[in-house]
Amino acid sequence: MLQQTINTKICAQGLGLHTGREVTVRLKPAPAGSGLRLKRSDLTGPPALKAVAANVTGTTLSTTLGQGENSISTIEHFLSALGALGVDNLLAEVDGPELPIFDGSSAEWLRLLNEAGLAPQPAPRIFQSLTRPFRLEMGDRSIEAWPAGRLSVEGHIDFGGFIGRQSFYYVASPSAFTAEISRARTFCRAQDVEMMRRQGLARGGSLANAVVVGDDGLLNPEGLRYRDEFIRHKILDFLGDLTLAGAPLLAHFTLRKPGHEINCRFLQAALAEPGLFHAVPAAELQNSRPARSRPFGLFWEEACNTA
Ligand SMILES: [Zn+2]
Repeated sequence: MLQQTINTKICAQGLGLHTGREVTVRLKPAPAGSGLRLKRSDLTGPPALKAVAANVTGTTLSTTLGQGENSISTIEHFLSALGALGVDNLLAEVDGPELPIFDGSSAEWLRLLNEAGLAPQPAPRIFQSLTRPFRLEMGDRSIEAWPAGRLSVEGHIDFGGFIGRQSFYYVASPSAFTAEISRARTFCRAQDVEMMRRQGLARGGSLANAVVVGDDGLLNPEGLRYRDEFIRHKILDFLGDLTLAGAPLLAHFTLRKPGHEINCRFLQAALAEPGLFHAVPAAELQNSRPARSRPFGLFWEEACNTA
């Protein structure tokens, strides 16, 4: 299995969720070993920002890379699609401070990447495999990682009300991401929309790019795309944040009430832990032991009832 980039340049326009301004993003092929990078094309001078956990500077409502003027927000739905398709190297140029929100999911990013096509590169793909369990807690939120021969994610949320408790188990593959995760939209409560607007956030937010939940249920007339769209979106976000490891990971993750802040803190703590990962070239992976799987459902009590 070789590293991959995209076959050809591709361009798209869309609204920024928080600024409400239209931005243009250009996706370009990039050399093997260069990783995923994002660049502000409206600024002269600042270098491209590498999409790695060390460059994360904000996790309020979305994940932000970079500092001050040279920053780019709302990168997670884009990164999630890149990670799912196994794109290792790419340069994204955007003429504003955030990527377009499109419909609030990864569907349009996936469509663009599929339209550009993927190109193998003359360098092996190197996975980082977890060597021992690792856990981070923040109040009633937690993320646990377990050694495994593949990437899988088990997520649990409990918002009460209309959303209620939801759980989902995802085993990573391009087809599973496309079918089960990619179309799940971001969501918020109706009462939070006013608060975000007062803070100057979500100016571009609307029912066209978010699921909005009011006291009496869903405000979106078209309804949900999946019965459990909310937890699927949380897993979409987590997968996007996980690409900030800078390499594809092999591990099983259990998420309890995940969000960008704990996702990124977990990743930064895990990457700082000596010997927690070891490099596995893709060629060795194909001959390695089968994935160790944990039965889904047994961990609900531990995951949410203790909250
Ligand atoms: Zn999201």
